[in-house]
Amino acid sequence: MPELDKEQVLATLAQVVEPQSGRDIVTLGLVSGLVVRNGNVGFAIEVTPEEAEQMEAVRKAAEDAVFAMPGVGSVTAVLTAERAGAPQQPPQKQPSGRHQAGPAGGLVPGVKAIVAVASGKGGVGKSTVSANLAVALVQLGHSVGLLDADIYGPSVPRMLGISGKPASPDGKQILPMERYGLKVMSMGFLVPEDTPMIWRGPMVMGALEQMLRDVVWGELDVLVVDMPPGTGDVQLTMAQRVPLAGAVIVSTPQDIALLDARRGLNMFTKVDVPVLGIVENMSLFVCPHCGERTDIFGHGGARAEAEKLGCPFLGEIPLHLEIREASDRGEPIVAAAPDGPHGKAYMDIAREIADRLDRGRARAAPKIRMR
Ligand code: ADP
Repeated sequence: MPELDKEQVLATLAQVVEPQSGRDIVTLGLVSGLVVRNGNVGFAIEVTPEEAEQMEAVRKAAEDAVFAMPGVGSVTAVLTAERAGAPQQPPQKQPSGRHQAGPAGGLVPGVKAIVAVASGKGGVGKSTVSANLAVALVQLGHSVGLLDADIYGPSVPRMLGISGKPASPDGKQILPMERYGLKVMSMGFLVPEDTPMIWRGPMVMGALEQMLRDVVWGELDVLVVDMPPGTGDVQLTMAQRVPLAGAVIVSTPQDIALLDARRGLNMFTKVDVPVLGIVENMSLFVCPHCGERTDIFGHGGARAEAEKLGCPFLGEIPLHLEIREASDRGEPIVAAAPDGPHGKAYMDIAREIADRLDRGRARAAPKIRMR
């Protein structure tokens, strides 16, 4: 049988009608990011956030139609609120002031606060901080979820030693994985590792919304979201669309100097998300043999920079082999050695974050929302 091609898939998708206009989704230009590889098909259907619910039926119809084609082994169709083909414009600021600190507006019922962990660039230890803070919050008695939204390099499953796929008993809702008292969901469970990068951008919003909407998080005090690194359009859109109670920015001493952290800060300020503070990671080097402390990158820059920017400083985590080794084993250092110096450093930061969320809620509570 000849390899299935894009044209054939598009011809099938051209049979799928969007009910409101009565026209098909291809003619309407709603299909984007079509990928066909070895009988595996993926595409996104572009919607506005308001349409997302009613378009779910269209998404399902499109998925079923393609799945029925001969030669198709799997289909992944997602709704995305990002116009992939449109000129790259930063999303507009929402006029509604949706990003008040406080309960995550209707989007994720049962979740009291969603906190993003972000960084100006990759490799600064954002995922390590996310995983350790989430476990620390559990140890402080909170009910916590961890959503790994780092679509470019979902590393949370590895750091928590989780493998396999989450179950979906009814084929619609997804049960989060559980480990260290955390409920965990990762882009890594939904998006195959070999998914081309270019396809990931447009998929991000659809997959993210799906993870917020379809995952059975239950009652959570905090949902920690490990964001993709950087401050581009994808990150900005996420920061804007997810009802965040606050953001934590992870930075190494050297990117404080390079202003990457400041870019992260600006991104959240732009979309009215309160920045709960900056964490300085790999702050100083503690020799695992002799215990000597060395400021290889000139530590302390984050505290000074945070002060200058009027942003809270949450604490510093040293660069230490044990932290990496623990993550590599699938056991965050906070779980492995909560009373050790590194465990304590994360716990202090988690405590500070929980306090700031409480204070934010107390402030937000009496507000009357005008519609
Ligand atoms: P990011 O999410 O920013 O890309 P990761 O959390 O994946 O970064 O960390 C990158 C690498 O650095 C990982 O191997 C991780 O184990 C290691 N790492 C992160 N923080 C520390 C630390 N404080 N000490 C030692 N290694 C660290």
